[in-house]
Amino acid sequence: MSAVELVVDEAVENLPADAPVPHESAGLGVGENHVDDRLASIPTAPAEAGAGVTTEVPTDTHHASVDDEHAVAENLRRRIQLTGRPFPKPLDSRVMTVANQKGGVGKTTTTVNVAAAMAQSGLKVLVIDLDPQGNASTALGIDHHAEVPSIYDVLVDGTPLLDVVQPCTTVDGLFCAPATIDLAGAEIELVSLVARESRLQKAIVAAAETGHEYDYILIDCPPSLGLLTVNAMVAATEVFIPIQCEYYALEGLSQLLKNIELVRSHLNPALHVSTILLTMYDGRTRLSAQVADEVREHFPEQVLRITVPRSVRVSEAPSFGETVMTYDPTSSGALAYLEAAGEIADRGAAGQV
Ligand code: ADP
Ligand code: MG
Repeated sequence: MSAVELVVDEAVENLPADAPVPHESAGLGVGENHVDDRLASIPTAPAEAGAGVTTEVPTDTHHASVDDEHAVAENLRRRIQLTGRPFPKPLDSRVMTVANQKGGVGKTTTTVNVAAAMAQSGLKVLVIDLDPQGNASTALGIDHHAEVPSIYDVLVDGTPLLDVVQPCTTVDGLFCAPATIDLAGAEIELVSLVARESRLQKAIVAAAETGHEYDYILIDCPPSLGLLTVNAMVAATEVFIPIQCEYYALEGLSQLLKNIELVRSHLNPALHVSTILLTMYDGRTRLSAQVADEVREHFPEQVLRITVPRSVRVSEAPSFGETVMTYDPTSSGALAYLEAAGEIADRGAAGQV
């Protein structure tokens, strides 16, 4: 076993909570200790609960108050400005891994909606579902019952990536490599395989060599830092972190940065955090604004301008096998994801990645 494997073993299996990491390591110009310092300054749940609630700000568009009518009009105005704008292609195909080992922070929601928004705006986008739960596949309306060829076959059996890719029927230009329940066992099966950390990377490179280029490949990670996530981080050059504007939002972030650094230093020197999106922002609480401010202060280059509001429409869409981009394109959530996707695309075209 090579030294690299040993190191990754340590990262994956032992998940050291306090392993020393070189200071310049986060690749963000921000030492993780600063993040830890800041954790202390974020109000804890009991202190904040209720206290920060100010006036009602509608986060969705289906209540019939005058304020809401304004919101609908404003949404439509933004929609007209934003839609129809073709997004520029990136200088090179971009592979972004959407990671955060916390569950329920909006990884899957962000992956599918950013991907759909990009595809609706003229880009060719592949979503790779790397979570055994297959939520991204579900949200894209992609068949992923047990017999369907899936990313499991790619990782474990070496099936070509393009053999498992399916088109998304609701959005042109959007494709998905689905996850089936088999993937739950892959974490263990991968351990004994050759080049177990780079199997996804090899599959993506092989697909590109057949002339099948996607403008964007977004990889939806499971909420853990195991071999599936390591495969995603080796395959990508960029990490895209969704952060939920909630209590304990930054908890675990330094652990994530440490793991990114381990993969960067031993397996994938190009890997860096390029993009952070604040999700489930609740305009009624001071806490959401505080979390957003803290994150922006530490990652000024990476955080996207728009925050995604909490929106019922966003959470309803997956049960219809759709993204919110088609389920309710004028909702606040859809507009926010469209704007986020546009900013990512603009950065990509300007080479600011
Ligand atoms: P993860 O993939 O990180 O586990 P998900 O994307 O599945 O997180 O989101 C967790 C839950 O939060 C899901 O039920 C999802 O529908 C909901 N959710 C995500 N983003 C929003 C949002 N902006 N507004 C309302 N609900 C949301
Ligand atoms: Mg998920």
